Amino acid sequence: ETARACAPPNGHPTYDHVMAERIGIFGGTFDPIHNGHLVAMYAAREGAALDRVFVVPAADPWQKSTVSESAVDRLAVVHAACDGREGLEVLSLEIDRGGPTYSVDTARALRAPDRELFLVLGADAVHGLDTWHEADELAALVTVVAVGRSDTPTPVAPSTRWRLQAVAMPRVDISSTDVRKRLATGRSVAGFVPDAAIERIAALGEERRQFLIRRQQRDPQLHGRSVLIIDDDIRNSSDHAGKLCLQPGCSRICSFLIDWKHQGEL
Ligand code: ATP
Ligand code: MG
Repeated sequence: ETARACAPPNGHPTYDHVMAERIGIFGGTFDPIHNGHLVAMYAAREGAALDRVFVVPAADPWQKSTVSESAVDRLAVVHAACDGREGLEVLSLEIDRGGPTYSVDTARALRAPDRELFLVLGADAVHGLDTWHEADELAALVTVVAVGRSDTPTPVAPSTRWRLQAVAMPRVDISSTDVRKRLATGRSVAGFVPDAAIERIAALGEERRQFLIRRQQRDPQLHGRSVLIIDDDIRNSSDHAGKLCLQPGCSRICSFLIDWKHQGEL
């Protein structure tokens, strides 16, 4: 603030550049968010001295315009994981817009005169950057922060248009795919996913269960099979009630529901 106040008013390079807020953009599907994401965000924040990291869940690409239910759920779980953590801020702009979103559009929406933008990526993604939509424009808007293991080769920008900074993080071998598999088979994801997010996933599962039960009461033919599986899950999950891990019943309901949705059954 002091430096800003002292900046010369003549339009030449000023303290404003020095004082620009360093903003990281960390995008992903977050289906669901997990601790690998959090380690990557914190590593980027520390390694690139970012003031804030914007966590930006992607919209469902197949959804044309309206906000889809699954995007709302993913967003709610990302909020549960990130809210209240210093330096992290969840932004819903991609989900609000819906449809496929390009990083360049997100960067355009987030740029501001007193901000410097950093696009945080897994180091593996760096080699493909030249194929990204409007690569020249994106490269002009952001510095790429490539987060990767320190024992792997330092990522190299695929062309000179990119400003790139490599940041090391320890290997965290967790993926959303793995988390979904665990949930689908009723295994715990404690330690893989932040506790608050686990609780949110379980609550969503319970909401869905109630929803399906109401639907079945209205239309026994249509949803009979779904509720049968759910009832079975609830019986299996009774032993686990009250533990601070995802209740297998709830988690399985969530993943079944996601599968059904993809099959067009919901
Ligand atoms: P999926 O298994 O569904 O592909 P994911 O775990 O890769 O999911 P995404 O939402 O696709 O998660 O990833 C968002 C960003 O987080 C990407 O830049 C990805 O490289 C990075 N990322 C995901 N998991 C890890 C991890 N374990 N360590 C470091 N970065 C990660
Ligand atoms: Mg992935």
